[in-house]
Amino acid sequence: MKVLVPVKRVVDYNVKVRVKSDNTGVDIANVKMSMNPFDEIAVEEAVRLKEKGLVTEVIAVSCGVAQCQETLRTAMAIGADRAILVETDVELQPLAVAKLLKALVDKEQPQLVILGKQAIDDDANQTGQMLAALADLPQATNASKVELAADKVNVTREIDGGLETLALSLPAVITTDLRLNEPRYVTLPNIMKAKKKQLDTVKPEDLGVDVAPRLKTLKVSEPAKRGAGVKVADVAALVEKLKNEAKVI
Ligand code: AMP
Repeated sequence: MKVLVPVKRVVDYNVKVRVKSDNTGVDIANVKMSMNPFDEIAVEEAVRLKEKGLVTEVIAVSCGVAQCQETLRTAMAIGADRAILVETDVELQPLAVAKLLKALVDKEQPQLVILGKQAIDDDANQTGQMLAALADLPQATNASKVELAADKVNVTREIDGGLETLALSLPAVITTDLRLNEPRYVTLPNIMKAKKKQLDTVKPEDLGVDVAPRLKTLKVSEPAKRGAGVKVADVAALVEKLKNEAKVI
């Protein structure tokens, strides 16, 4: 059974992003880039399924600039068997990525696609859902537990008020939540091994996909600075402030 794991190269989660002075976007020049944290969880889950003997091949895929190769090497150091880079300098939006992934699903015929629930740069939370719709596959988002069998997968999701478990027939699309697993540390020997693994590069044109942006960003600006907090003497003073100053009750 093949598993496809899309991994996105994003600004590292420890970096405090700076908005460009012309308000057109976020400055990513000379900024540390890493694999999207939810995608690390997705790779870890796929590798664990392989280690359990349920999966035979884990394929990592990244769409974007040539440097996404580094992200793919990290995925292979965690344990992915090979990787595909869909290389383009065009700024990719979720619909374009979903179309590229759909083309790869048609080509590779994986039984499972495990994505992150969202990318921490655009916070879109759309690609997995769009892929499931385009490929006409069942989907389970925000997985906190994945139990795979030969022809189906049970996915537990944390929802308001408890846990929901969905049974999906394969092939299927899953997106990962934070508590699914804790990704392993990547060891030096595995980084060295990953350098020798197969990494193929294709272009969106090779997959017959038009990746032109459909959405236009009008403006990106810093959030308003938060004021300092104040201590209130008692509950009555708090209620008075909430009513008359904050005007929230
Ligand atoms: P988003 O819909 O942008 O929040 O992204 C959700 C998930 O889709 C991510 O966690 C990745 O698994 C996948 N994804 C999004 N963009 C890309 C990309 N450029 N390359 C590979 N995977 C991506």
